Amino acid sequence: MADKKQTKVKRILVANRGEIAVRIIRTCREMGIETVAVYSTADIDNLHVRLADKAVCIGPPPSSKSYLVMQNIIMAALHTHCEAVHPGVGFLSENASFARLVRDNGLIFIGPDPDVIELLGDKVKARQTAAKYGLPVTPGTGAVDSKDPKTIEEAKKLGFPVIIKAAAGGGGKGMRIVRKEEELAENISIASREAESNFADGTVFIEKYLENPRHVELQILADGNGNVAVLGERDCTVQKNHQKLIEESPSPGVTDKMRNAMAAGAVPMFKELKYRGAGTIEFLAEGENFYFMEVNARVQVEHPVSEYVAGVDIIRQQILACTQGKMEIDPNAVKLSGWSIECRINAHTPGTLTRLEIPGGPGVRFDSFLYNGCTVPPHYDSMIAKLIVYDVDRKHALAKMDRALRELVVEGIKTNIERQRWIINHPVFYNGVFGTSWYANIEKEVENGR
Ligand code: ADP
Repeated sequence: MADKKQTKVKRILVANRGEIAVRIIRTCREMGIETVAVYSTADIDNLHVRLADKAVCIGPPPSSKSYLVMQNIIMAALHTHCEAVHPGVGFLSENASFARLVRDNGLIFIGPDPDVIELLGDKVKARQTAAKYGLPVTPGTGAVDSKDPKTIEEAKKLGFPVIIKAAAGGGGKGMRIVRKEEELAENISIASREAESNFADGTVFIEKYLENPRHVELQILADGNGNVAVLGERDCTVQKNHQKLIEESPSPGVTDKMRNAMAAGAVPMFKELKYRGAGTIEFLAEGENFYFMEVNARVQVEHPVSEYVAGVDIIRQQILACTQGKMEIDPNAVKLSGWSIECRINAHTPGTLTRLEIPGGPGVRFDSFLYNGCTVPPHYDSMIAKLIVYDVDRKHALAKMDRALRELVVEGIKTNIERQRWIINHPVFYNGVFGTSWYANIEKEVENGR
C-alpha cells in the first residue's frame, strides 16, 4: 500500500453532513483541494451537497443506514478517487475501526492514528495516561463491577455524590449521578446496560462528582512529528444535560498560571502519543484546581472561538498535519488576543425555513447549513448553526453577541435563539462567575422569563 503522507492531496471525502461538512468544504476550497460530499436521501438538498465538487448518496435517512455505514463511505471515497477522508465531528470521527478501514484502503484519515484514537476513546485508559504525565485527574476508579464489594468501598472512599460514566461514552450520554450509597449498585448495573446498548461497550467507572465546576479545555494542534501547539483554552461551562450551549475563549475562570500548568502536562502527553491533527483535552476546574476529564481526538464543534483568538484556521492546519506531517504554525509563537464567544443555535422542531436573516458586520461569523427555504430533517443532531463573535474583550464580545442574536431571524422552525439572548444578558453570565450546574438550576427562571 502506497504511503501517501508527505504529499499534497487533491481530493478529500467529507464523511459528515450539516454545518461541520460545510465548514470543512470551505477550507478545502481555499486550499485548492476538491471535496466529495456524502449524503443520506434526507439530505439531498443540504448545503454541504451543494457546495462540494461532487456528492455521493450513501443510504436512507437513519444515520445507522447512511452516515455510520463505513463500507458505503469507503466505497464512495474510492469510487470518486479521493485520497483522504475527513470525519468531521460525531458520527465516525472517533471510531478507531473506521480510521483503520480508511488506512487499509490506501486513504489518509484526517485525524490521529487508530491506536491513539482507541487509547484516548477509552476514558479509563485516557485517565491513566494523563496521570502518567502528571496531570491531576478527577478522583475516581478504574473499571467497576456492581457485584464486586470493592466497588462500594472505593466509591465510599471518594465520598458521595459520585458520577458513573461509560468508558466509551460521549456526547453527554451515559452518565448517572449517585448521591446515596444504597443506590450505587443498581445504578452501576443500569449504566452498564445503557453503555452496552449505546456504545457497544458496557465498561463503566466512577468519579467523584464535582457539584458546580467550570468546564475548561485546551485546543491542541499537532503535526505528529514533535510539534504540539496549544491555542489557549475554551470555557464550555454553560451546559444543559451535560451538553454545551455557549463556549468562549479565553475562559473567565482561568488564570495564566492554570493555563500554563494545564499545557505543561498536556504537551508532553500529545508529543509522546505522536498525536496528529486537532484534538482537545478537557478539564473540570474548581477555583485554581483543575482535573483531567478526557481527550476528544478530533476537531470540536466549538473550535471557531479558538480560531478567532489565535488567528488560525484549525481545519487547514489539521489537514496539513495529517496529509503532509507539517503545520504552518510555530508552537512557540502562538499569540492569543481578544475575546470570542459562540452560541449554539438548536432547532426544537424539524421543518422548512420560511425566512432566514443572517447577522453580519465585523467580528461576526455564522457557521451553518441553513439557507432560505431549506429543510431541517428530523433524523439528526438538533444543532443547526453556530453564531460566533470576536472583539477586543469580553464586555465588547457580549455586546456584539447580543446585537448579532437580535439580527438573527430563523422562521418556520422553533429555535433557542431567544433563550441564548436571555443567557447572554443574565447578570450571572455577564459577571462570568458560574459553574456547570448554573444553567440547569435557572432553567425554570428562563421559562418564566420568556
Ligand atoms: P462526554 O464525553 O459525554 O462529553 P465528559 O466526560 O466530557 O462527557 O463530560 C461532560 C460533562 O459532564 C462535563 O462538562 C461536566 O458538566 C459533566 N461531568 C463529567 N464528569 C463530571 C464530574 N466528575 N463531576 C461533575 N461533572 C462532571
